[in-house]
Formats: sequence, C-alpha cells, structure tokens
Amino acid sequence: MSTTQKDLYQQTLGCVHCGLCLPVCPTYRVLGMETDSPRGRIYLMRALGEGRIENLDVVRTHLDRCLDCRACETACPSGVQYGNLLESVRGDLEQKAPSRGLRPRIARFMVRHLLIHQRRLRLAFSALRAIEVVGLRKLARILRLIPRSLDAIAPPVPGGTQRAPLKTGLHQPKGPVRGRVGLFTGCVMEPMFGHVNRATLAVLLANGFEVVIPKAQRCCGALLVHMGLPDDARTLAKANIAAFADCDVILNNSAGCGAALKEYGHLLDAPAAANFAKKCRDICEFLDSVGLTQLPAARNVTVAYDDPCHLCHAQGVREAPRKLLQQVDGLKLVAHARPEDCCGSAGIYNLLQPELAAEIGKRKAETLTKAGAQLVVTGNPGCMIQIGASLRGIGDHTPVCHPVELLVPPAAK
Ligand code: SF4
Ligand code: SF4
Repeated sequence: MSTTQKDLYQQTLGCVHCGLCLPVCPTYRVLGMETDSPRGRIYLMRALGEGRIENLDVVRTHLDRCLDCRACETACPSGVQYGNLLESVRGDLEQKAPSRGLRPRIARFMVRHLLIHQRRLRLAFSALRAIEVVGLRKLARILRLIPRSLDAIAPPVPGGTQRAPLKTGLHQPKGPVRGRVGLFTGCVMEPMFGHVNRATLAVLLANGFEVVIPKAQRCCGALLVHMGLPDDARTLAKANIAAFADCDVILNNSAGCGAALKEYGHLLDAPAAANFAKKCRDICEFLDSVGLTQLPAARNVTVAYDDPCHLCHAQGVREAPRKLLQQVDGLKLVAHARPEDCCGSAGIYNLLQPELAAEIGKRKAETLTKAGAQLVVTGNPGCMIQIGASLRGIGDHTPVCHPVELLVPPAAK
C-alpha cells in the first residue's frame, strides 16, 4: 500500500458501523441497499484498501451513485470525514482505471474543456441562447435530439443583459466605508443567474463594503474534485489564491463553490492555501456576522428556505440565511420537512445519474409543495435549477430564488 492508500484505509477504520447515517442518506432512502449507504460505501473503500476487491467497476458503481452531499458527516457520531474519503478514493480510482462509460467521458470532457473556462462558457451560453431564440431547442425536443432528462432540468438561457459579467476591479459604496471584500463570481452563477451576482454586489455596496472583483479569478474546481481529478483542481486553486492575494475576506454566493474554496487547505496542503481558506465566507454567513446597516425592501411573501448541502453539511452554515430573511419586513418563513436533504443536484450529478437525481428531486419537491410557500429560497445555483425543475415536474410553479435577492435595500434597486 502507498502512503496515501494507507492513510485512506486508516480513515475508513473510523466507521464503527452504527448505522446512524443510513436514514439521512438520499441514495439509501431511495434504493434501500447497504452498498448505496455511507456505511456500505465506507466498507467498500476499506475492502479496496485491503486489496480484497479486484473488480473496480463494482466499487465505482456505488461511489458514482453517491451525491457527495455529506449529510452522513453531519449524522456521524464518530466524526468520519466521508467527503474527504470519497473524493480521495475517487481520485485514486480515476488514476488506476478512468471510468469508461459514455456519460462520464462526456462529463469529464465538458468539465475540463468547457465548464471551468469562463470565456468558453460565455460563448457556449451565447450559442445556446441563439439556438433557443430561433426555436431550435423546441425542434431538438420534438426530434428527441436532447435527452429528456437534460431538457427537463435546463431552464431557458437568460438574455445577454442578464448574462453580462460584473465589471472587474474595485467597486465603491456611495456612503461611509465599513471594509473591503473580494467577490468570487462563480462559473454557473454568472451566465444562469447574473441577477444574483448583481444583487450580491448591490447588497454589499449598500451596506458599506468596497468590493474587489479580480479579473484573474478562475473556477473553484469543485466539479473536478468531485470527479476525482484533484490535479486539475489544484491548478485552479493556485490561480485563485494568487488572484485574491490582496483580499482579507473572500465572499461567494454559491454553496458548492464556497465549500470547495474553504477546502483549498486540504487540496493543496500548503500554508498559503490554508490561509486563503480561512478568509472565505458565504455571503449570508458574512452579512449575518457583520449585520445589515440597510434594511432590505419589504415583501409580503411566504418563503420556504431549503439548505444547500454544501452550505449546511460542508460549511455548517444554517442559521445565517434564516436570520437575514427574518429581517425582511413582511416576509414569513414557513417550515418544511427535511430542509437539509439533498435535492439531487450535486454538481452535475443530475446529468450523470438522471433517474436517481429525478427521484431525489421529486421527494424534495413534494416536501416543499406541502409547505405551501409562495417562494422557495436556496443559496446555490445547482439547487436553484434542480429544485425549480423538480417542482415543475410535479406541476408546482413556485419560483425559486437566492436569499441575497431578498436582501437588496429599496434605495439600491
Ligand atoms: S454523501 Fe450523501 S449520498 Fe453520499 S453516502 Fe453520504 S449521505 Fe449518502
Ligand atoms: S454514522 Fe459514522 S460510524 Fe456510524 S455507520 Fe455511519 S459513517 Fe459509520
């Protein structure tokens, strides 16, 4: 066994087989199989470390079904760091025997050559928008040229003004300055939810913060880590550490990106990476800690807040978004069952495991529908897309938005 393998094997020994993680695991709840539970997967990883499994495809099948939602980490009394374990083993498997299926190959290509490159992504979204405008998406749907699962998830591409990136450089507030923050703008947030980035900037400026948006920032690398490609992710991490070198606080509004940024210390194992990670905050986590000096615009609306897995389980941020939403005059928060359950988005999981993601999404939509809210709020672009699609799938057209959209003061609108 190599040192890394020994280390991974040691980590699997932390599991005492109590089974407390099983009821919170979305894949176990749907499939009911031990091998698709956290305990079963840890057992498989341990068997791999002991050299008792020769057929790597068996392990891969069950690890691929894992959402990396980390609900099991929250439930585990023994403190098993399941996310780190999973990502390390995936990386190990990817090196020894890269997954050969068509879907993973396409996904690997798309992530490596498109999703993590901001300029290519912008061009791709412009092309997709043009295709939609001339009606080719409808035609492709009729001719069944795009998978039904993808068509059901993907919302229409916003127009050019909405997709326009935020201006890079320094943005200054009109009033007194409370501090300076760096803003990480994300790869999917910009073309799909540009209005969320604009709301984030508006809230920060209205609340007295100078905002620096470094031009040299790159994708956070989360998708690469989840796919077992940590070396590619390390290149991006180094670029981001350099891009934000002058910032003491680095904010983001995507739970998935935020979790990845906070784990750079683990990814790179270097003091500069650990220092960078300490400076990273989710936008709600930050605003709650510093307090709002400008109250948000009043709204007469009932809201169900759903916790993104990578905010509650990976970053431990649960109360901050709720406390901020409660400061919106007229807004009423309503509870729904199992707000910390994964919605089935999990990066590009809904494209790689469409059937399982659809069932997990349907369960999430059913609990949200029962809450009867007029608006669903969640702080991650993937969750916004997946929850919106899952709600529509059961005939519920409740809109979904990001918490920061509800925090914009009237004067900043
Ligand atoms: S990360 Fe989520 S899907 Fe994977 S084993 Fe843990 S609870 Fe289950
Ligand atoms: S809760 Fe922790 S110790 Fe118990 S079975 Fe799950 S991973 Fe193992």
